[in-house]
Amino acid sequence: METASTPTHCPYCALQCGMNITPLPRGGVEVSERPDFPVNRGALCGKGRTAAQVLSPAARLTTPLVRSGGRLVEAGWEEALDRIAGALSSVRAHSGPDALGVFGGGGLTNEKAYALGKFARVALGTSQIDYNGRFCMSSAAAAGTRAFGLDRGLPFPLEDIPRTGCVILVGSNLAETMPPSLRFFTELRENGGTLIVVDPRRTRTADQADLHLAPRPGTDLALALGLLHLVIAEGRTDEEYIRERTTGWEEARAAAMAHWPEYVERITGVSVPLLRQAVRMFCEPESAMVLTARGPEQQSKGTDTVGAWIDLCLATGRAGRPLSGYGCLTGQGNGQGGREHGQKADQLPGYRKLDDPAARRHVAGVWGVDPDSLPGPGRSAYELLDALGTDIRALLLMGSNPVVSAPRAAHVEERLRSLDFLAVADVVLSETAELADVVLPVTQWAEETGTTTSLEGRVLLRRQAVAPPPGVRSDLYVLHELAARLGVEKGFPTDPEAVFAELRRASAGGPADYSGITYRRLAEEDGVFWPCPAPVPAEGDGGDGEDALFDVEPDAPDRDGGAAPAAPAVHPGTPRLFLDRFATPDGRARFAAATHRATAEEPDAEYPLLLTTGRVVSQYQSGAQTRRVAELNAAAPGPFVELHPRLAARLGAAEGDPLAVVSRRGRAVAPARITDSIRPDTVFMPFHWPGEGRANTLTNPALDPVSRMPEFKSCAVRVEKVRRP
Ligand code: SF4
Repeated sequence: METASTPTHCPYCALQCGMNITPLPRGGVEVSERPDFPVNRGALCGKGRTAAQVLSPAARLTTPLVRSGGRLVEAGWEEALDRIAGALSSVRAHSGPDALGVFGGGGLTNEKAYALGKFARVALGTSQIDYNGRFCMSSAAAAGTRAFGLDRGLPFPLEDIPRTGCVILVGSNLAETMPPSLRFFTELRENGGTLIVVDPRRTRTADQADLHLAPRPGTDLALALGLLHLVIAEGRTDEEYIRERTTGWEEARAAAMAHWPEYVERITGVSVPLLRQAVRMFCEPESAMVLTARGPEQQSKGTDTVGAWIDLCLATGRAGRPLSGYGCLTGQGNGQGGREHGQKADQLPGYRKLDDPAARRHVAGVWGVDPDSLPGPGRSAYELLDALGTDIRALLLMGSNPVVSAPRAAHVEERLRSLDFLAVADVVLSETAELADVVLPVTQWAEETGTTTSLEGRVLLRRQAVAPPPGVRSDLYVLHELAARLGVEKGFPTDPEAVFAELRRASAGGPADYSGITYRRLAEEDGVFWPCPAPVPAEGDGGDGEDALFDVEPDAPDRDGGAAPAAPAVHPGTPRLFLDRFATPDGRARFAAATHRATAEEPDAEYPLLLTTGRVVSQYQSGAQTRRVAELNAAAPGPFVELHPRLAARLGAAEGDPLAVVSRRGRAVAPARITDSIRPDTVFMPFHWPGEGRANTLTNPALDPVSRMPEFKSCAVRVEKVRRP
């Protein structure tokens, strides 16, 4: 085994911090800083620093498990794969292909996400595939596509943040979710720029802001419209920009003018003077940005909410200009790439639309199948989970733990239990894997090579640094073997670079064009921003079709050893989008007129408070990995209910007292954490834990009509003191 360090990237969030992994002489590996990666410059949060612990065989699955006599027992790979293939074939034969469901994850590499989408549509022939990224950023993706014709989380690199004049950070607690990114905002303020944080809680991120706006949960749409109203009323719009680079202004203007500041103050609880101050801070510098995260996005009106923040950027001439614009801070490790390559219910690789005939023809050509054989769009993530045990009889799930992370989680758990057959491929025995009929132990980040795409749209190479434990196989192997057992012998390679080569062809010409990106470039350049089309060979240069186009190396000699013909220039990648035109057919950005509306579930006499959910720094998503890391578990051992001292006094609750939070969907119990950093009408719970304190037992699956995003960020609850015997 090599002892040299391997440069790679963190297994967790979308910042994809660079890190080195070094094998230790007595076994195991060590994670260390990698100061040369420009995003984190060596900084790592506690999750990244302790990431080596999730590689320990003690923390993870190393043997397939099959259910026998009601229990999961160890089995061989052949038996486990045969059982899955047999069950999928049987359900398909009896109930048709759409009785088979596939559920993926935003942590899967681009190669796995691509292969999983192809597996569902080609090997299974089902339309029923979606993934947990639907729960993450789908509203921002929908709003960005609607406004700009293209969704890339950040259309500019993070390094632009310190050089802008003002950032409005909406519903993001970066101090907990991706701490190394805070330095961009610290540098912004050191350079004279200002930071406005919008969050119902005075979080550690809000503590660093020049201005904190704390709207009632679920009212960010009204807040954005109120700010836009003031921009118009104070004559701060950029009329020339609006005229030349946008459409739909009159409708958006009229909608915003209906949202008087006093009306917005009543809805949001944010005072008119604070609204005016925010407008001044945003409009006075030459450049400014709005960045959103889960707060405004995880709402049943998330698409319109993000759309209103985009409208604020458009009305002030901010989008598509240097050091300015709108961006979404994607959360999961491959949240960006995970939504581009076909594991989403309505999409094909390259961020193509599944219902676009030209896209179907292109991808079907790469896959060697009849375009008419490809199924159409399927159900979104929650709708798919809700159909388990009824329309969908068998499910293959990779890299997700919906028992903890889905809304209305007790119902989702019951739906999973009602399936005829559940197969889970994962690194650990998650709460969802515990329900499975077959569990497959698969490789993870440092044990395999693959690519991810960070929140900046920067495609990165995660290199293999250690051998996987004996008994563990890759997800690509799983799909290859299952496809073969289902009669599809070709088209599912196990080599990630071969999968990436096919992904490049499938993405060529699409919105997320990766065709000019190779593993070699990723290694040499430490990441390439998409779109990055392959160079087009000049006429008559001897290219022999599509494969030649993808094999071009700029300085390669020709086959006879002579000087190569002038090679087409390699595309440098695209760190900044929209500077000349937007990706819409006419090149103009589109305003999206919207009006304030209530959350799907407003407080009433029975449920008088609002619950909002979120994350803590020492846990990640459903906690399936981080709850197995001793240091992280010690720092964040369990859930809690954050509440204001006035509410605590009303309940007669002291710090640490067990509290029951009750919604129309269930009850969760966790200790009180009393703080005046939260609004008195709101309680907060982190969602990383299963069991009695599972926050998602309470959350509301009301869906945004466009993005199909559930309303994680707001539901009506009551809080009761629990008397323990
Ligand atoms: Fe990993 Fe995100 Fe922490 Fe960076 S911020 S070390 S990518 S979890």
